[in-house]
Amino acid sequence: MRKYDYLIVGAGLFGAVFAHEATKCGKTCLVIDKREHIGGNIYTEETEGIQVHKYGAHIFHTSRKEVWEYVNQFAEFNHFVNAPIAVYKDELYNLPFNMNTFHALWGVKTPAQAKAKIQEQIARMNIVHPKNLEEQALALVGQDVYEKLVEGYTRKQWGRECKDLPAFIIKRLPLRYTYDNNYFKDPYQGIPKGGYTRIIKKLLEGVQVCLNTDFFARREELTAKADRVLFTGMIDEFYDYCYGPLEYRSLRFETEVLDMSNYQGNAVVNYTDYEVPYTRIIEHKHFEFGVQPKTVITREYPAAWEQGKEPYYPVNDPKNSELFAKYERKALKEPGVLFGGRLGMYRYMDMDEVIAEALSMAETELTYEDRH
Ligand SMILES: Cc1cc2nc3c(=O)[nH]c(=O)nc-3n(C[C@H](O)[C@H](O)[C@H](O)COP(=O)(O)OP(=O)(O)OC[C@H]3O[C@@H](n4cnc5c(N)ncnc54)[C@H](O)[C@@H]3O)c2cc1C
Repeated sequence: MRKYDYLIVGAGLFGAVFAHEATKCGKTCLVIDKREHIGGNIYTEETEGIQVHKYGAHIFHTSRKEVWEYVNQFAEFNHFVNAPIAVYKDELYNLPFNMNTFHALWGVKTPAQAKAKIQEQIARMNIVHPKNLEEQALALVGQDVYEKLVEGYTRKQWGRECKDLPAFIIKRLPLRYTYDNNYFKDPYQGIPKGGYTRIIKKLLEGVQVCLNTDFFARREELTAKADRVLFTGMIDEFYDYCYGPLEYRSLRFETEVLDMSNYQGNAVVNYTDYEVPYTRIIEHKHFEFGVQPKTVITREYPAAWEQGKEPYYPVNDPKNSELFAKYERKALKEPGVLFGGRLGMYRYMDMDEVIAEALSMAETELTYEDRH
């Protein structure tokens, strides 16, 4: 007998927001996750009194007022502002590329001087139709910014030479002619006090959750438990890779507890030269202005993806986009199954977009009568 209105595969942000909205409307939900914890990739856990972002740095930022108000129901946010540092060999720069960066690169002090310097470098390149990522980046920012801050980092991220990467990966490389190190332009930004897992816990209050449960290990039995399914896992896996596997980039995290109070003085430090194998080091306590006696750092290494590894970033090149479109067409005709989240929709989404998408799905799915 069917017991639940919804089986929700994935206790990440998407699944949790949908489960919360459905439960509010009187629907019964069973949420399953193959991991041993809730929260998906925004999961945080406490070590040495510090909230550790287990799957990489997560900074909440949005320009959507309604999403900001929504998420603030479940947490109090602090005033953290993301202002990353870039280390290139023994040099240190501010990110995003702004007047502080340009001053450190060339000693220029005014926007006019910085613009003239960059324009002179771009003109010298004389690239009209960029054929690859290297040419595209050089045409956008000139040689110095490209060589010190873009080339090595991008090569590490993609595991390929910039000359062998398509130009479309970099559409824009914003140059900011003010002394403003705030990475994001959104009006709302912060870190939830006490970590992200708390938000998911609150969203899932009153919802039945089963962890360590892989949908594919008990597909028929689990599907039979509910009238409808929301699937936030990999859409190609759902269809047994019938059109072929979609591609992803993966990451490897190395976390260390250090017996010192402050390792790098900033939450995020990017390593932009190719010789350093990791792309960044996160020092978690700085997300919450921590003063604990110890510190926890995580080195983030880009990695090729293969089945069994965590699929972090979809590769939205023409080949994979075409493949996804096939799965999407099939999914639209799938009776009783909804697909959501970064893996179900095969799209990189920030947390605010995930919330907006999950709320929009809930609004379409749950009828007016359900909601009143
Ligand atoms: C390194 C990194 C840094 C990021 N930084 C930011 C940031 O600073 N700011 C920001 O806004 N966003 C950031 N994001 C994006 C953010 O992580 C996502 O928006 C969010 O986690 C997506 O939530 P989701 O529910 O769609 O997916 P997930 O969090 O992946 O949740 C999906 C869940 O489904 C489960 N699942 C999958 N298959 C099955 C199965 N077969 N059976 C059972 N369970 C299954 C998984 O275990 C997982 O828990 C970052 C992402 C990455 C990778």
